Amino acid sequence: MVAKADIKWSELRFGYIKCDYRFISHFKDGKWDEGELTKDDYIRIHEGSTAIHYGQQCFEGMKAYTTKEGKILLFRPDRNAARMKNSCEQLLMAVYPEEKFIEACIKVVKANERFVPPYGSGASLYLRPYLIGVGENVGVRPAPEYLFGIFVTPVGPYFKGGMAPCHFVISEYDRAAPRGTGGVKVGGNYAASLKAHKVAVDAGYADCIYLDPATHTNIEEVGAANFFGITADNSFVTPKSPSILPSITKYSLMHLAEHNLKMKVVEKEIPVTSLGEFVEAGACGTAAVITPIGSITHEGKKYAFYGEGKEVGPKIKELYSLLTSIQTGDIKGPDGWVVEVK
Ligand SMILES: *Cc1c(COP(=O)(O)O)cnc(C)c1O
Repeated sequence: MVAKADIKWSELRFGYIKCDYRFISHFKDGKWDEGELTKDDYIRIHEGSTAIHYGQQCFEGMKAYTTKEGKILLFRPDRNAARMKNSCEQLLMAVYPEEKFIEACIKVVKANERFVPPYGSGASLYLRPYLIGVGENVGVRPAPEYLFGIFVTPVGPYFKGGMAPCHFVISEYDRAAPRGTGGVKVGGNYAASLKAHKVAVDAGYADCIYLDPATHTNIEEVGAANFFGITADNSFVTPKSPSILPSITKYSLMHLAEHNLKMKVVEKEIPVTSLGEFVEAGACGTAAVITPIGSITHEGKKYAFYGEGKEVGPKIKELYSLLTSIQTGDIKGPDGWVVEVK
């Protein structure tokens, strides 16, 4: 066991703290180099890099947790590796091999062991893998070279003092096109969402909810998280659309809802007008795990969920507890969900 960094773990928020090492690998002349751990938190790239001009880049987000026994676990890194491969293929970027992706995650977490928050602190180590197009260029074409990196930073629990319902408003903007890049984790979707987010926050909401970009009738994403609703007859319902980013948290919750909580799990179109069917609603993703949705406002009409939008419902509490217990090793999840860093 290494001595932990001098950090007040329980006071951490979702911010950047410089850790000791980051992993970097370069793709040149058709192949990836071995990659290395470096102390430098700056990268030097060519001014014509496609990542700068044409948005040729993608990223991932994942967490490492400390167990009661002091082991360090990664949650489903194979899913992040596969999703990044998918993002790279969509943007014609060199794919970083999935096995090597997982190895690099383990390597970088191990090198920064003193920054992995202790068990019971509510905090975790956030990993940010990214892959960008670099090299001498000016025209619109795939980059001649690529850079794959992973940096880490300890982050606090999303909700200090327990989960609290958040209030959302339907956006008038789209984050992605119907046949565009909504289904892959690329920065362009985020650049397109910054203004929509600001408009929602300025109007007093936590964030905005996007409708499907083709018909603007169905619920799609909740900011940068996936949506789910729970019906009175115990169904877990989540939207089906090619422009939604497939959240690993959501697919994990769907599995747990079906197998552990014996709920019915349904992926289907969810018209805004049908929101009244849900007794609980939530947004899910790596950062917050689950954000309970208190209410959704659309064209002046407010749809409130559990406890008139003021309380966290029992199913969300159960799902949250189940998932986080698996992530921190308190209970055993399905085979292969956690990978030990050793
Ligand atoms: C990353 C992301 C999510 C959440 O995915 P997880 O794998 O659960 O972290 C949801 N929506 C968008 C748009 C995202 O970029």
